[in-house]
Amino acid sequence: MTTTETHRFEAEVSQVLRLVINSLYSNKEIFLRELISNASDALDKLKYRGLTEHSLAKDALEIRVYADEDAGTLTIEDTGVGMTHDELVKNLGTVAHSGSKAFIDALAEGRGDMQLIGQFGVGFYSAYLVADRVDVLTRAAGSEAGWRWSSEASDSFTVEPMEREQHGTAVVLHLKEDQREYLSSWKIRQLVTRYSDYISYPINVRVEKFDAGEEGEEPTPELVFEQVNRGVALWQRSRADITTDEYEEFYKHLTHDWDPPLAYSHFQVEGRQMFTGVLFVPKRPPFDLYSHEHQHGVRLHVKRVFIMDECKELLPSFLRFLRGVVDSDDLPLNVSREILQDSATVRFIKKQLTKRVFDMLDELAKDRAEDYVSFWKGYGAVIKEGLHTNPESKDRIVPLLRFRSTVTGEDGLTSLAEYKERMPEGQKAIYYVIAESDRAARTSPHLEALSKKGYEVLFMTDPIDEWAVQGLGTYEELPLEDAMGATFDLDDEAKEERAAAETRVASLIERAKEILGERVQDVRLSERLTSSPACLVVPEGGHHAHVERLFRATQPGYVGGKRIFEINGDHPLVEDLNRVHGASPDSPQVAEWIEVLYTQALLSEGSRLDDPSRFVEQVTRLLASAAHDAAAASPAPAEEATPESPSGSGASA
Ligand code: ADP
Repeated sequence: MTTTETHRFEAEVSQVLRLVINSLYSNKEIFLRELISNASDALDKLKYRGLTEHSLAKDALEIRVYADEDAGTLTIEDTGVGMTHDELVKNLGTVAHSGSKAFIDALAEGRGDMQLIGQFGVGFYSAYLVADRVDVLTRAAGSEAGWRWSSEASDSFTVEPMEREQHGTAVVLHLKEDQREYLSSWKIRQLVTRYSDYISYPINVRVEKFDAGEEGEEPTPELVFEQVNRGVALWQRSRADITTDEYEEFYKHLTHDWDPPLAYSHFQVEGRQMFTGVLFVPKRPPFDLYSHEHQHGVRLHVKRVFIMDECKELLPSFLRFLRGVVDSDDLPLNVSREILQDSATVRFIKKQLTKRVFDMLDELAKDRAEDYVSFWKGYGAVIKEGLHTNPESKDRIVPLLRFRSTVTGEDGLTSLAEYKERMPEGQKAIYYVIAESDRAARTSPHLEALSKKGYEVLFMTDPIDEWAVQGLGTYEELPLEDAMGATFDLDDEAKEERAAAETRVASLIERAKEILGERVQDVRLSERLTSSPACLVVPEGGHHAHVERLFRATQPGYVGGKRIFEINGDHPLVEDLNRVHGASPDSPQVAEWIEVLYTQALLSEGSRLDDPSRFVEQVTRLLASAAHDAAAASPAPAEEATPESPSGSGASA
């Protein structure tokens, strides 16, 4: 009786398999890194269980790699935890999270290539880059039952029972005809030293050794296992002995990223508390950095034993993009999430790590300006969260902040220190404008009076900026002032002029209040405009238009706050309006013009109109009247001669 079961792959897995098996990707050797990494994880898990289940702790923890020339197979075998029948079916037939979908999308959208496979949690399937059939022979630690999983990467795989002497897993790759180079032990050695040297378990590769034998005899080849990696955790080694290449390879092993990290910091802290580790800043932010489901945090080891991935208790949330390893000598081996949450040791480590990250970022900003710009573009918005969530770190965050401004080019960024350097005499605040994009910021009417005075204005275009800037408050005693905000006091000298203008347009302002009614919080004379006739400003405590749009998109039924409508008393248009209003206080035309000005101000802050067709009608009426006046002032067109009828006879009747 056959006991072979056939299972279908989950649809997304099939899709990944199809992509992999047909891939023309030339860097196929990544499969070895992925499979060795899985083997190393399996050994980590066994070592951890061995802490409490002593019977599991007696066998050697190792990885073996060997080829069988005749069978055309390459095997990667570990003495790790192995898998039960159900784990096998689940782990190698379905995907735990949205990884495969994200991977497929990334490939389809050209956002990466095959090398990303491990990052999306589907690294095992990279085996099919070089194999057309894979067998997985496994026995779970603590169980007697062995299992053989096998698949030719079609839509299904089989599982059947088998005898297996030891717990652990062997992945047997039946190499494709054109991938037989991976049978060479020399090749495997070379790849292991390049990509997997930092694995902390021995990797033993089977090689042929020639015994010279007696003189005159043919040397006889013998197959022996030889350890090809160093087998010591990288972070335990002295910094002076580690090359940049080794750090980069270790990072790639840890994260499955193919790009080297942007920066790293290796620390060995001794004293009252002892811990070591390495932290890395990935070149590119993860695709789910802002998602609630984002798993983040560093890997935690206690006295060299792997404890958990994604330990987020070790770093504040605004540093969640860091990857790396922390190995503590002081935490208990049976540490749980609950213990982590209120442990003085963890608080100490967290503080130290945060400090080291700031040191690393300061250095990056100082020594590698270009890389810092790319860092800021990727992670700036996350760092800014810290202004609110971790006020104790504010002093360290502020020097890291960068902004585009009316002075920087499209790609340039300025720090607050540089801004302050450039401030002309007499400027008493740092000005910023909150907008959806640089373009909207640059053309915002709110900047007019500031530009005229030669004041630089920072652009805040990240959704988080409105919130972050409140956390910032002041910079070296200079207040940060919102160019679109309600309190705006630019000039003492202009006060008198303003009082005069106020009396001049007082009645027009009253009329505007009547006309706009509930739509605005107030109408008043503006100090911030020079070339625009009017604008809308945000009352204190209110949200900016583009932030309100975000709220609207995420919170159904969200009602935005009212704005203050400001008019520019010196603008010729407003002056004319004021004259017409003076002559005819109830003029319906004035009412319409005020409405049009208000609607334009809404458009210019990027808001949506409740009734666009009404605006179109109003503008059409204005255009018609202007065109009519212009036509009346133009000379009448000369009478045109009637064109002669065509001479050809092709016209049909
Ligand atoms: P990831 O390792 O990112 O979860 P993979 O596709 O590489 O994704 O592997 C899927 C799962 O299969 C792993 O999470 C693990 O549970 C299991 N697995 C793979 N290789 C081994 C192995 N050598 N020993 C035990 N389990 C393994």
